[in-house]
Amino acid sequence: MPPRNKFITIIVTGVPGVGKTTVLNKTKEILEQENMEFKIANFGNYMLSVAIKKGWVKHRDELRHLPLRRQLELQEFAARALRLDAEHQLTNKGILFVDTHAVIKTPTGYWPGLPENVVKELKPDSIVVIEAPPEIIYEHHRRDASRKRSDIGGINQIGELLSIARVAAMSSAVLVAASVYVVENVEGKPEEAAYKLVALAKMLMEMNNKS
Ligand code: ATP
Ligand code: AMP
Ligand code: MG
Repeated sequence: MPPRNKFITIIVTGVPGVGKTTVLNKTKEILEQENMEFKIANFGNYMLSVAIKKGWVKHRDELRHLPLRRQLELQEFAARALRLDAEHQLTNKGILFVDTHAVIKTPTGYWPGLPENVVKELKPDSIVVIEAPPEIIYEHHRRDASRKRSDIGGINQIGELLSIARVAAMSSAVLVAASVYVVENVEGKPEEAAYKLVALAKMLMEMNNKS
């Protein structure tokens, strides 16, 4: 039996700019309305706080340009710190959503966001892949001035990254026997994807109670 957390753990992945954080902000609203116990944790925030303290970066989009060994160190720290925080905050009725990436596009190639050490620390029940058409994601990159995503490339490169992202999610899922659940983020309707995430969490909770 692969190890599991006492709470339901859902890792939310998807290419940069697809809308993970937007969808999870909507998910937060729904879960609050339904009085559910949850934590939404942004994996990049854990990496960023350490990287800023060490003076390695000033902005979150610089993280994927760091030397790989530094990214690995930050990644391992983030997984452990995030899991410990969730363990302190959640009971066996809770749901943890982790806002992160199954693949990181770096100057030296595609690199796993959820390699064995990380995915075995987080112990997900399910890995969600958020998707949208590459043209739409490219538009998000152009419109969102708060982020520096130009290194992700144009529509064709985003299309390739989308297919790598699916493969990467399944590869990580294999290591911990998690499901992979693909959710479309419809333009102008991020709440639809959010409702799907809540429904997935409820299904997983119900299955747990029956076991
Ligand atoms: P990153 O991996 O870089 O953190 P992300 O997947 O979290 O990216 P967001 O920051 O949530 O992506 O969204 C990127 C941009 O796309 C934002 O400007 C957001 O407002 C917009 N956006 C996201 N989802 C939708 C949607 N369903 N309809 C319209 N705009 C959207
Ligand atoms: P985000 O805001 O989700 O894009 O997170 C900021 C940055 O953190 C990302 O662009 C990556 O460089 C880094 N990051 C987030 N999750 C991971 C992960 N699982 N592995 C490696 N780097 C990550
Ligand atoms: Mg985000």
